[in-house]
Amino acid sequence: MALVYIGLGSNLSNPLQQIHLAVAALTQIQSSKLNQVSSLYFSRPMGPQDQPDYMNAVASLTTNLSPLTLLDELQTIENKAGRLRKDNRWGARILDLDILLFDNDIIDNERLTVPHYGLELREFVLLPLAEISPTLSLPNGKSVLSLSQNIETNGLKIHSKLR
Ligand code: ATP
Ligand code: MG
Ligand code: MG
Repeated sequence: MALVYIGLGSNLSNPLQQIHLAVAALTQIQSSKLNQVSSLYFSRPMGPQDQPDYMNAVASLTTNLSPLTLLDELQTIENKAGRLRKDNRWGARILDLDILLFDNDIIDNERLTVPHYGLELREFVLLPLAEISPTLSLPNGKSVLSLSQNIETNGLKIHSKLR
């Protein structure tokens, strides 16, 4: 079994509902079990600013799937939510599900980079991650809690506890 952290994001088509539906979908992934879900956060968009604010959360999952099979499952959920894959980079999207961490694995191939390359740079990832797993360290040894305490919050706001 691997312990996996997944970042969720949405800024289109009722993001609150999208995140709730995505969490429900995560509970249905084969050979996997959803453990924890963070509070929901409001964040400012990265990149193009002419798009709505985002809602973000982080979930933890234990899984027997391989990293690429898990990525397939997450992309299926994104597609079912109606995400169009030709979106501009960092443009508005219905649902984004990123693999943040997969145990302590370091993965680098054309479909998957783990830990996620933006993990240490994104307040909307670090704060929810530290909320559900304050003692977690990254494969490079850095403490998620201290990273979260030292990042610019960029107006990040907590919305509500999901469950
Ligand atoms: P960002 O990667 O900056 O968060 P994004 O999430 O919007 O941007 P996507 O369009 O969702 O990017 O994904 C583009 C590709 O990134 C996917 O097709 C996938 O193969 C690849 N990818 C690489 N590493 C990961 C990861 N850790 N989690 C999810 N997708 C990844
Ligand atoms: Mg992303
Ligand atoms: Mg993505």
